[in-house]
Amino acid sequence: MNISIHLGATIIHDRKILPGKHGYSGTIEHIQIVPNGKKCYCGRQGCIETVCSMNALLGEDEEDTFFEKKEAGDPAVMERWRTYLYYLALSINNMHLLYNEDFVLGGYLASRLYDADLACICENIEKLSPFPENIDYIHVSKMPKHNITIGAALPYIRNFLAGELIPMKG
Ligand SMILES: [Zn+2]
Repeated sequence: MNISIHLGATIIHDRKILPGKHGYSGTIEHIQIVPNGKKCYCGRQGCIETVCSMNALLGEDEEDTFFEKKEAGDPAVMERWRTYLYYLALSINNMHLLYNEDFVLGGYLASRLYDADLACICENIEKLSPFPENIDYIHVSKMPKHNITIGAALPYIRNFLAGELIPMKG
């Protein structure tokens, strides 16, 4: 899951991206998890986007302002944060039931997640999951900035390292 201003995800299996039959496998942001919830930019209501994106978390606050208030223990911000972590846990649990794979949380959120936050996500998942399990499948990206750009470059780097140079145009 890539937690950015908007939400996005990619499903990787056997080290390959799964595009799906129509090419939109992994568009988890528009799975509805809150019946009659907030309106999503897709036109529907209660999509994961409306509760798990940074956009949903921050509301009217700037990113730095929000996290400064969180550090200061602002009760309203802490409540928003806990609700956000709950919906993140709910989404991860649902995805994990569908795809029993590792999860890497990335995007802007990665640099904002502390061990206590991960513990909160795991605690929520333990309550939600039908399986008593050790939650060892959630990882936080070690590349929180520019990860989309770097990810887009990886196939070219892989080809370069394999000695398959791609000719430049022009
Ligand atoms: Zn939507």
